[in-house]
Amino acid sequence: MWSRQGLSSHQSRPSLRVRYRHWIFKLPIARNYRGMVVGRMILFKGDESEVSRTLFQHELIHQEQIDRHGIARFYFIYLRDYLANLWRLRNHDAAYRNILFEKEAFERQGETGEDGDRQT
Ligand SMILES: [Zn+2]
Repeated sequence: MWSRQGLSSHQSRPSLRVRYRHWIFKLPIARNYRGMVVGRMILFKGDESEVSRTLFQHELIHQEQIDRHGIARFYFIYLRDYLANLWRLRNHDAAYRNILFEKEAFERQGETGEDGDRQT
């Protein structure tokens, strides 16, 4: 998992892996999403032809956020934001869209989403 290079130099990052048609989207918790970042891996529900540039860009921004904060802190802040928003807004979609990391990703992904589908 860790390359010698990755450990010795702060600048070099482990390579990014991309997986299409991933089984994780069969799970009830992930079923409504089209893309997901897990550590250094980007997972997509559809195959390569179904993944738009916007969606790919969206997930890349999350990858950048993980690089910025570290994996553990990224997920901690993500979940904390979501739960705080859910408490305040009482609505899953609104809570999700108001997560700071999602707001940044949606703002920077280029076009605003091509459709109303959820991305995480
Ligand atoms: Zn997202």
